[in-house]
Amino acid sequence: MAVRIDGKAIAAKVRDEVALEALRFEKEFGRKPGLHVILVGDDPASAVYVRNKEKAADKAHIAGEIHRLPANSAEDVVLAKIQELNEREDIDGILVQFPVPDQVSQNRVLETIHPDKDVDGLHAQSVGRLWSGLPGLVSCTPAGCMRLLEEAGVVCEGKRAIVIGRSNLVGKPIAALLLKKNATVTLAHSRTDDLPARCREADIVIAAVGKAKMVPGSWIKPGAAVIDVGINRDEEGKLCGDVDFASVEAVAGCVTPVPGGVGPMTIAMLLKNTVQAAFARQGK
Ligand code: NDP
Repeated sequence: MAVRIDGKAIAAKVRDEVALEALRFEKEFGRKPGLHVILVGDDPASAVYVRNKEKAADKAHIAGEIHRLPANSAEDVVLAKIQELNEREDIDGILVQFPVPDQVSQNRVLETIHPDKDVDGLHAQSVGRLWSGLPGLVSCTPAGCMRLLEEAGVVCEGKRAIVIGRSNLVGKPIAALLLKKNATVTLAHSRTDDLPARCREADIVIAAVGKAKMVPGSWIKPGAAVIDVGINRDEEGKLCGDVDFASVEAVAGCVTPVPGGVGPMTIAMLLKNTVQAAFARQGK
């Protein structure tokens, strides 16, 4: 039976580390690290995510503010708000909650955030640094997956890893991070030939697809580490991942549950990035 990787406990540990670092920052520089979030429109799910981020930031000793813009805001208005936050000395991290309304280009939003304050790690400069093996801000969910592997004692060096899903947000940065840890990485997608066979070769499986219970235990090499990024609803409306947990748990060496696996890590890593950005902006 696989070991369950407890994302809730590991995220709590990361948040405690962040709070200590944030206190250290305040002692040294006379202010808290600052994380500001821009929310465009009134999507209820986004409003909940943003409130959760605000609460978590507050607990971790990070100063925060939510800037709410109406759903019909022109792109120029959103970009001007980002510029305003770029120029403020007391702000270390800027996050624009996605999705943004259709009239606003997601790419333009990402490229307008100053790379030093890009705590979501999605600016082209952050992505370029990641693939070049340079230090920088790494997108939160992928960074969270790597921390889960590390905490579970999974060694990546020399191992075969497969990442299922190639989005800019999740799949591609995870592949880069695994490569950086010297794994041999397969980046699979909807056109990958014989995905079950490719999976069975892997010592590390990261599922980031968005299809409920798509990966069964029969695709998993005995003892493999399995990280499930997916957030889906099953036929009964219950939250589930991309992995069929029951059958995978019987074969894998360790596996993350959904909920309680990758999910809690994302906000924890956002807070960690904010403190990292704060120190980096002070030349530390
Ligand atoms: P996207 O829809 O952007 O990407 C999905 C990827 O899966 C694509 O690369 C696609 O391939 C691939 N794919 C689709 N169908 C198949 C298939 N049958 N076989 C193999 N690959 C397939 O999703 P995201 O990357 O944004 O998110 C993935 C999942 O992770 C979602 O469930 C999302 O909710 C969740 N998520 C969870 C987070 C967390 O905090 N836990 C944070 C972010 C996302 P192709 O490129 O060929 O179309």
